[in-house]
Amino acid sequence: MIEQKKLSLADCLKAATETKELLLGPSALEGIPRLLREHYDFTGVCIVADENTDAAAGKKVREVLDAAGISPAASLVFPGSPRLHAGCHHIDRITAHLAALPGPAGIVPIAVGSGTVNDLVKRAASERRLPYLCVPTAASVDGYTSYGAALLSGGFKQTFPCPAPRTLAASTAVLQGAPAYLSSSGFGDLAGKIIAGTDWIIAEKAGALGAPGTEPIDPLAWDMTQTGLLDTLNRSAEAVRGDGDAVVALFSALSITGFAMQRLKSSRPVSGCEHLWSHIWEMEDLSVDGSPVTHGHKVALGTLAAAAFTEALFAQASPPLPALGWKPPTRAEREAEVRAAFAAAIPGTGPADAAVKTALEKLADEKHARVLGDALRDNWKEIREKVRERLPPYGELRDLLARGGCPVLPEEINLSRNEVIAAARRVQMIRNRYTAVDLAWDLGVFTGVLAKMEAGPYLR
Ligand SMILES: [Zn+2]
Repeated sequence: MIEQKKLSLADCLKAATETKELLLGPSALEGIPRLLREHYDFTGVCIVADENTDAAAGKKVREVLDAAGISPAASLVFPGSPRLHAGCHHIDRITAHLAALPGPAGIVPIAVGSGTVNDLVKRAASERRLPYLCVPTAASVDGYTSYGAALLSGGFKQTFPCPAPRTLAASTAVLQGAPAYLSSSGFGDLAGKIIAGTDWIIAEKAGALGAPGTEPIDPLAWDMTQTGLLDTLNRSAEAVRGDGDAVVALFSALSITGFAMQRLKSSRPVSGCEHLWSHIWEMEDLSVDGSPVTHGHKVALGTLAAAAFTEALFAQASPPLPALGWKPPTRAEREAEVRAAFAAAIPGTGPADAAVKTALEKLADEKHARVLGDALRDNWKEIREKVRERLPPYGELRDLLARGGCPVLPEEINLSRNEVIAAARRVQMIRNRYTAVDLAWDLGVFTGVLAKMEAGPYLR
């Protein structure tokens, strides 16, 4: 049985392997000189920001440092518009800037910004072998405290290994003043943990029955990310309107999920197939009126798509049987399926090549597929009960996301309902991490679940 224990931010920080201290409060920025003196062996500091985040917090950080007798080296400030992308070429710019400063081996980079600035500095600091300090300017992602940085390389979003910040200073006033779309993005990223949880339940059981791409549930990481999650989401929904308590609840929960990733060096506790939907849309450069849709808003729609898929999959109490005569495709047939699915949606062969590799890794031969399918059917009742205990009804989840300011209709992020449902096929092809879409595939009922999704009240 999974233990149910709600942990505090301080308890969760103890599980982190890289982050030593997180200040969260109205005067967190004033604590930066102390953080530097207690946790770093430094000869200088350098602020990296963009024009927006520099105005929101960079200026104040400089004042605090000056008052404490620490004069920061020349800052690196990226333009505020167009919105900064997590492109790898920016890393080179940051590492070159840091290397050119006097006493470069003792510089502490201070990332002042939201998810993108933090990910860029996290990776650049790691390449320079420097511990860094993070000043988050919005409760917009769970990546501030996570191990690894999500960066665009050759058109792909990939997670590059690099340590989390050694310390963070998060001013509640700064977080409250962030643009509403950033707070609602953080809310969407947090809501995705509902699916991460149900997928982890599915994966643990499927793994015990011989499926690939699975991990057993880590009880501490489970408590950190899953226990009390719906309650936390309800308390966080007003963050989009700048409510102080809600912003603290949201930022704390996002930070804790990052600590869980530090603990396991894996995003399994915080990312299931909802994030795979968002990865598909990242490959497609999804944007609205020329502005890229934020990570958290893509995750919000991915969460609804995944919830609809999961609800449709588990709709029936009896173990679902594949259509008569169903058998898994041959490797050649599977490759053709993957190439066709990607050619219709994403230009270039790069994403399709990567997906072919993953899909073939996942593909079992007919004998193994039958054994696994039967074992999953034998355990259907148990899996179904555990998943349905955690998954809120679709309508409730949609209302919760709407309350948190997230998009809840495909049209709001420039997609049609059919595109969101059809993306499930590519979702199942892009990562060897067992989720609800793999369960449907292994049961031989994938197409039937899509038909149920289409006929249901979902995504409209
Ligand atoms: Zn995320």
